[in-house]
Amino acid sequence: MASVSVAKLAAKPTDFEERTTVKAASPKAEDFSAIQKAMSDVFGDKIRLSTFPTDSDVDPIKLDWYNADAKSRGPVVPSKANSGMCKHNAIGAHSGPYSIYHALSIASRKLDAKHVADYTSSFPPFDFPQVAEWSEPGKIVSMDPFGHMTPWLYDDLEKKENVEVRPSMAVTKAVLSIPEIKEEVKRGNLIPDGKIVLNDEGDMACTKVAVDPVWFLPGVAERVGISEADLRRALFEDTNGMYPELITRPDIKVFCPPIGGITAYVFGDPANLSKEDKSLALRVHDECCSSDVFLSDICSCRCYLIFGLVEAAKEAQKGGNGLICYFRKEGRCLGEVTKYMVYNARKRTGDTANNYFHRTECIAGVKDARFQELMPDILHWFGIKKIDRMLSMSNMKYDAIVNSGIEIKERVEIPDYLLPADCRVEIDAKIASGYFTNGHRYTDDELKKVEGRKW
Ligand SMILES: [Zn+2]
Repeated sequence: MASVSVAKLAAKPTDFEERTTVKAASPKAEDFSAIQKAMSDVFGDKIRLSTFPTDSDVDPIKLDWYNADAKSRGPVVPSKANSGMCKHNAIGAHSGPYSIYHALSIASRKLDAKHVADYTSSFPPFDFPQVAEWSEPGKIVSMDPFGHMTPWLYDDLEKKENVEVRPSMAVTKAVLSIPEIKEEVKRGNLIPDGKIVLNDEGDMACTKVAVDPVWFLPGVAERVGISEADLRRALFEDTNGMYPELITRPDIKVFCPPIGGITAYVFGDPANLSKEDKSLALRVHDECCSSDVFLSDICSCRCYLIFGLVEAAKEAQKGGNGLICYFRKEGRCLGEVTKYMVYNARKRTGDTANNYFHRTECIAGVKDARFQELMPDILHWFGIKKIDRMLSMSNMKYDAIVNSGIEIKERVEIPDYLLPADCRVEIDAKIASGYFTNGHRYTDDELKKVEGRKW
């Protein structure tokens, strides 16, 4: 089926030239020619709108996604730099949303498009061991398991093939200095041990892993229960045609989407994460800038994050691990603009818990777009088999993790005393919709009486 449609698409390879030639007579012709001539010293004097598998010069670098041997699997190469136009094997661009700033830097002539990265001494301070999950079909589909090692795994290939191979993950170490953690130490709830909690100031030592998204399209489609063709078509259409190769290159199976990634904060020895006899406390946290950073009191996000950090430190101090996976999924992946409008609508129409999800659906059409099905990939990358303490009440996160084959032994609610003033509407609405609780689950009538602060 794919070959027929591609042949049709490829039938008019000069379509762009024809159309621009015809348009040359129109008053707007100059716009076209200006763009065609622009930056030709950097990108060459021909613009190629898309490639097709049938193009005579197209010869993508092999990428066998589930191959356990990194070299045989091959690197993820979205870049069209150097020989990349013919040899790239991924759609999109590296670095998620930051790819746009990369382009802006080149357009501003502040970044040389031919810059060759020097990765000297940038390798990970901890060598995460390769686990079976990295190559188990269906286990990891939204990140590149070898993404932190690409500069060292594929440097020979990069030179030989004259393509650009960039990392999509990085590992480093850090000390976190958080005011609430200092308070917990003062209260005697956390005891400094010089290793995890370093001192009376509550400074915490951790290893952290940054992950940019890399989607294996057949795997992502299967995970969310749709066809790869539907996924490609919707991505192409709903990004307003940003990535023509979603349509023209069905042979390319990997897409680097322009979305935010993940940061994983590991407390305790990272080598223990995959060991079943070591305990693990996990918080999966989706970004909420207004609460996480600016301490807005309308939701429980930062409080749960701090609670997660405290419990993570305690678990590490017991010889196990604490793990916080922080996902850039602002406002349930609907974004802050939608989120703030929902806040306005809530406050103007009576901010009661029974209306909490309804107001989001009115504006966004859905109440949530986080697709937690993709979330467990990072857990499988660490080789996690079971979670002793799941520091989240979300049924969506719980279901996604358990359905992916990881056992959850205990679910831990945020203690009531940690909840900020105006967040009962959020938390009670979520509990009523299926969030985990050992406490009271509100009825519809009761939810009408849970009311937030008025403007
Ligand atoms: Zn929040």
